[in-house]
Amino acid sequence: MGVDSPARDGSIAPTMPRDPRHDILFEPVQIGPKTLRNRFYQVPHCTGFGVEKPWSQSRHRAVKAEGGWAAVCTEYCAVNAESDETPYVAARLWDDHDVRMLSVMCDEAHAEGSLAGIELGHTGVQAENSESRLASVGPSQLASDFATGVVPKGMTRSDLRRLVDDWALAARRSRDAGFDIVYAYGGHTYLLGQFLSPHYNRRTDAYGGSLANRARIWLEVLEAIRDAVGDECAIACRVAVDRLGALGVDLDEGLEFVRLADHLVDLWDVNVGSIGEWAKDSGPSRFFGEGWQFESTKRVREATAKPIVGVARLTDPDLMASIIRTGLWDLIGAARPSIADPFLPTKIDEGRLDEIRECIGCNVCISKADTRRHLGCTQNPTAGEEYRRGWHPERFHPVKDPDLDALVVGGGPAGMECAIVLAKRGARRVRLVERGPLLGGHLGLVTRLPGLGEWGRVVAHRMVQLRRLPAVELVPGTELDEAAIRADGADVVVVATGAHWARDGLNGFTRGRIPGADADLPWVLTPEQVVLERKRPPGGRVVVFDGEGYFTASAVAELLAAEGAQVEFVTGYETVAPFCAETLEDALVKQRLHELGVGIRRGVSVTAIREGVIECEDEFGEGFELACDGIVLATQRVSRDGLFHSLEGSRDRLYRIGDCVAPRLIAEAVFDGHRLAREIDAADPEVALPYLRERPMMETPAPADYGAPAALAGRPDPEPRSVRMLDPAAATEIAALLRDADSDVVICAGRGADLTAVRNLAGRYGARLAVSRPHVEAGRATRAELVGASSDTVAPRVYLALGVSGALPHLIGMHGSGTVVAVNRDPGARIFDYADVGVVGDSAGLLEVLATL
Ligand code: SF4
Repeated sequence: MGVDSPARDGSIAPTMPRDPRHDILFEPVQIGPKTLRNRFYQVPHCTGFGVEKPWSQSRHRAVKAEGGWAAVCTEYCAVNAESDETPYVAARLWDDHDVRMLSVMCDEAHAEGSLAGIELGHTGVQAENSESRLASVGPSQLASDFATGVVPKGMTRSDLRRLVDDWALAARRSRDAGFDIVYAYGGHTYLLGQFLSPHYNRRTDAYGGSLANRARIWLEVLEAIRDAVGDECAIACRVAVDRLGALGVDLDEGLEFVRLADHLVDLWDVNVGSIGEWAKDSGPSRFFGEGWQFESTKRVREATAKPIVGVARLTDPDLMASIIRTGLWDLIGAARPSIADPFLPTKIDEGRLDEIRECIGCNVCISKADTRRHLGCTQNPTAGEEYRRGWHPERFHPVKDPDLDALVVGGGPAGMECAIVLAKRGARRVRLVERGPLLGGHLGLVTRLPGLGEWGRVVAHRMVQLRRLPAVELVPGTELDEAAIRADGADVVVVATGAHWARDGLNGFTRGRIPGADADLPWVLTPEQVVLERKRPPGGRVVVFDGEGYFTASAVAELLAAEGAQVEFVTGYETVAPFCAETLEDALVKQRLHELGVGIRRGVSVTAIREGVIECEDEFGEGFELACDGIVLATQRVSRDGLFHSLEGSRDRLYRIGDCVAPRLIAEAVFDGHRLAREIDAADPEVALPYLRERPMMETPAPADYGAPAALAGRPDPEPRSVRMLDPAAATEIAALLRDADSDVVICAGRGADLTAVRNLAGRYGARLAVSRPHVEAGRATRAELVGASSDTVAPRVYLALGVSGALPHLIGMHGSGTVVAVNRDPGARIFDYADVGVVGDSAGLLEVLATL
């Protein structure tokens, strides 16, 4: 086949006729009153956009619509403020402002010929309600297994009525915004799924107990949606039909629910698992192959003749067509494959199968959308950048200088991506020079780790592009030195020489190298040495030390343990591979290490390495030693930037990208290469152009009228008194006052007074003890003994204040006393203004004397 120049739409092959076996994927499908133009359906998935970033939301979905998806759906969309997902960013339809935000997406989807769907839902007990500060609700008062510390309100009948009303209102708003498909979402054990599940639902009323009762609220919601939208929208129901060990329902009940609700539903969107075990649904490729949920979801056909959409991380059109031909599903659902390649349907339609940018199942998109709050993707650097940077996955502005000659040094993910984009932008010549025999850089190591072979799609996709872009010259097996690059005639030089693992244990826990760490020694190893060079320690006991917090150390531990080594996984983090929590892999990593017999030590730093032993320090600074035959240092990577620095200043238009700048996620390296190529004509491409930021689309609200401040009831005002100062030695007169009061006395210990001595004195005179606030806060006295608490007053005939300064609550508390005697070392203390008798002196001395009289 000949090679064609990139077409205007970015395709690099002549359009091929569609394979007839795939024709079935392009048949229209009726869902209720709406028609899908083909069988490609972008199921709801999170983005971090919600209604806060309506333009990012709409452009992201619109690009997919343009790429051939017959329907594009929002992420989870809360029907009311009791279902506030903060700190996660979700869509909302609480008011008409939200309608305006989401209608932008509908308009753009329609303009591309797609239907727009909205995943109306309620998180129930899984909602933190951090922003709304309302109590979470659930079928029963059982703590959430997902949101830390959330104990919900068990919903009352009126709560249930309100839920149905709010859902109906949100459905009407959805219709008004322009949505074609409205969801009753209860998958992932959100509220409707919680009612369905006997694990969450412990009710004994008409909404608990039997399956028919547990399904009741879901059916009521479906009926309310139908009443609200009539025949103007299709109604979709998203349900996890099989809990697969997690909380939810077993498959037999899942199918029975489908039968119960079938008459109210136009489209079944089916998945598995629960939000607490989300990996069961959005399985990372390290642990789950493509289509592993299919065994459960294909059974839904037994329960319904209505259209079914399912997900299985599908990128293979033959498998998709087979699923449709066998009648098990009607639509090919996709979240991640649609993020990785928004033009997947078009590429299948045009026979450009080898141009499909296949999802690698890394789940970085989930980390980006949920934790980092703005969607991104390892394979597709334009995901999430459609609006704010104006990037399109298939279209590129031409470079200003069509004669541009670019030299890219380093064939890792960043270099490959940069070369592709420069070539697609029409550069005349793009040389991609790699010192090794193969391109792929860091991925050469990653893909040799257990379970990570699918990540090789990052390289495979780009190799197809590079080989067929006529401007690209691939030069593997060639190491260019400084002199060669200085002498090269390229207009632009991009250094993409990547990074390597530190050989001296450089790490963030001790903020330095580890004494004794030297990868030239037989017992000290780097991940490259283990994986690429097959270096092994001299004996069978190995420590793998993780400072990266992601996949490398655990995968190396898995590799060595599977070979029979006795492996100890040591990490300075408090959890194993903390970043894996964001990619739904953390529990799976721990389980895998456990199954392989790998010992785990958390919160431990390695402080020194000697032959046969490593010295460690735990999180409390306690040292200990571990005997081992070798240690693998996955502490941190270091940029391979020597070539770049040696060239700095020697030629114009010299840039660097990817891990050579700073070692990061593969997604960031790809992004960096893409960005530089997109912005190569900018005044200074080294510095990223600013991106558009979305601001609230609201009028400035009128200032609220709060009315007058709420007034408290009047309080007693302490009256100043005229004090008569006594000589410090006048203890006899004070003793007489106390005696004459006939036990109607309060003796108060101020901040500095000895409380034991004051208690003794109170006992001697039959007086009540009082204290000032510092004694209560220090736990030396009870709150009942505090003078002035809650504006309560004591009013004895004699009030003896020892070391009391005279704070206002205290003065209020002693207000009304007959005679106030104040003793304080500070002659300016305010207490003297409210006392009848005063002594400037040390209360301890006075106490001693009074105890003897
Ligand atoms: Fe697939 Fe990874 Fe992209 Fe997500 S980030 S869509 S899992 S390639």
